Amino acid sequence: MIQLLKELIRAESTLATGEVNAANVLCKYFTDNGVDCIVDCFDGIRANAVARVKGGDGEALLFAAHIDVVPPGDVVWEHPPFDAVEADGKIHGRGTADMKAGVAATAAAIVDIVKSGVELSGDIIFAATAGEETDSCGIKRFMAQNADSLPPLAGVLIPEPTGFDIVTAHRGILWIEITTKGKTAHGSMPHLGINAVMQMSALLERLRNYEVPCEPHPIFGKCSFSVNGIAGGQAPNVVPDSCTIKIDIRTVPDQNHQDVLDDFERIFKEIKVEHSDFEATVKIARSCGGIATDNDLQFVKTLCKATEISETQSVGYTTDAPNMLALNVPIAIFGPGKCELCHKPNEYVDIADVEKGRDYLIKVIKEFLT
Ligand SMILES: [Zn+2]
Repeated sequence: MIQLLKELIRAESTLATGEVNAANVLCKYFTDNGVDCIVDCFDGIRANAVARVKGGDGEALLFAAHIDVVPPGDVVWEHPPFDAVEADGKIHGRGTADMKAGVAATAAAIVDIVKSGVELSGDIIFAATAGEETDSCGIKRFMAQNADSLPPLAGVLIPEPTGFDIVTAHRGILWIEITTKGKTAHGSMPHLGINAVMQMSALLERLRNYEVPCEPHPIFGKCSFSVNGIAGGQAPNVVPDSCTIKIDIRTVPDQNHQDVLDDFERIFKEIKVEHSDFEATVKIARSCGGIATDNDLQFVKTLCKATEISETQSVGYTTDAPNMLALNVPIAIFGPGKCELCHKPNEYVDIADVEKGRDYLIKVIKEFLT
């Protein structure tokens, strides 16, 4: 399993290099150990790997993980990010925590179950998918290909690094870009143009204490809103005809993202009353909802029983879970690794945690399927 983890890290599956090498590494591990697995390669270098263990006709258990990683960044790492160096009881490298430790632990748990020869009441399906860190293209593709043909599911388990917390709720993401439109003119004759930067300032003033209208959520409270980028203008002597801001909104489960966009259109209209030449467009850069799995569902109870963890948690970050809501089954997140190391330089995972993760997941599979 640790060898598998190292090979997955060395497969370097960033957006630039794609997931195909990592998918092949995982597929080889499964097939070498007698488990059916296929690699679904697309767009040349992108790939999902899907493994399946046949069980009885009962409810199946779906594991969903991502095999892509974020880039290592410009900081020099203590150990090279894609060498998977083993030191001090840890494996170091990009993707160790997020989330190749979870992938390796799940794969090892499945292989262990198969080798034990234990009879399963339902199938185990493991979808290791591409692009979670960017546009969730892999899980969307898996869903498009498989959602209608999957057997009835007990639920979905996502082995993201939760430090062995059982997570049943997280916020959604809505990233939007708003662009104000103007008209260029010579910088010495600004009255002949429409200054898009000044147009944007009217909007920013309006957004200074803005709160996205939404019902407070029992777990997450209000939806968050932050303007995190601005760009506009080309040269000191040209009146700018465009200015764009980037906004990060973290929505609450069940919040309608279209309502948020509609509210911006309302604000644009209000500004137009005072500034008749104000013109702005809003564009979605990324949108995925939150999740809030009911803790009273049997799936959550069984998961808690198998792991002997009684409390569930909610977190602020997002996973691929919202892309699987169409399955209409409970979803939980539980896996090895510290989430505070995700996306940071010098990411690592404790080998003991990967082993503990595998052992937990073996218990989970047995609790659900035997
Ligand atoms: Zn992740």
